[in-house]
Amino acid sequence: MRPFLLALLLLLVPSLAAAQAATDQPADDQRLILVTMDGTRWQELFRGPDPALVADPHFTDPDMTEAVEKSWKTGPDVMPFLHSLPAQGGVLTGNRDVGQCMAVTNPMWFSYPGYNEILTGRPDPAITSNDKIWNRNITFLEWLNHRPGFAGQVLAFGNWDVFAYIFNTQRSGLPVNPGFGTRYPTETLTMRFALDALREKKPRVLYVGLGDTDEFAHMGRYDAYLGAMNRDDDFIAELWRMAQADPVYRGKTTLIVTTDHGRGAKTGAAWTEHGSAEAVRLDPHGFTIADPAGFPGSEQIWLAALGPAVHPAAQGSGCLGQNQIAASALSALGQDWKAFDAGAGAPLPFVSKP
Ligand SMILES: [Zn+2]
Repeated sequence: MRPFLLALLLLLVPSLAAAQAATDQPADDQRLILVTMDGTRWQELFRGPDPALVADPHFTDPDMTEAVEKSWKTGPDVMPFLHSLPAQGGVLTGNRDVGQCMAVTNPMWFSYPGYNEILTGRPDPAITSNDKIWNRNITFLEWLNHRPGFAGQVLAFGNWDVFAYIFNTQRSGLPVNPGFGTRYPTETLTMRFALDALREKKPRVLYVGLGDTDEFAHMGRYDAYLGAMNRDDDFIAELWRMAQADPVYRGKTTLIVTTDHGRGAKTGAAWTEHGSAEAVRLDPHGFTIADPAGFPGSEQIWLAALGPAVHPAAQGSGCLGQNQIAASALSALGQDWKAFDAGAGAPLPFVSKP
């Protein structure tokens, strides 16, 4: 063999091997970005700002009224990126005005029960508070962290210190990130950490728990709640742009965005609160508005998804459940969700293995 040919072969062989690996690999190298926006109502997501709440000086700073009215008239004005997903082959669902339906299946309608349901695929009726109790249930993040190919590849960020308990970092071995902090509107720092992690650590699974929407809503600040939604949308768009610009993520990453619970749907101050009648009965002092009926509407949620695992033609009918998100996330990663928990909710109809 002439040296020239040998050199050519040596050059070709590794690239052929790499090409072969590339065609074999995609199903094994699927990735997931999961973002939650705490207590964000479908009403603002789809309808846009409620004019009555914008006009009410109790809820919208009178200095801000005009700016809010001019900036955001519709849902797509508030969250343009999420509303662009259907045109990109994705799904945005939960708009009850057009007959869509998605809801939590836990009986509490607040955060810990909601995150537990999202991350484990089933409600746990024993979780009746947001207290810092180590979660007895195994989240799909913890399960993945012990699967081949995923160890150390699961990163979670959030600006609520209860997340560490929900993930049970003590047992799960999931890294505790500096993003876990006190529950104040500080999520810009969480966003910074998450963007840096995507760029530098390139985890296969990235979870980001954003909380400012719920914080501002409890404070009764409607303008700031809308502003947080708008900023979250920008952040999610940036995460997605960054992922699509990176060959490690491009074409093999599924994005899922959802919320742990809705908020009260009655007119007046109910939007500031959330929780079922049972939740109010268990802890009446945990609520600033006394209403033994609880806050109907706060069981209603929504979800957005985009990526190779998402098939918008298969929207299905009936009401989607929060308990279906874990199996959807695992399917998007090419994993057998039944091996995680055969009793979890089945994947959402529009999500399947890529
Ligand atoms: Zn809340």
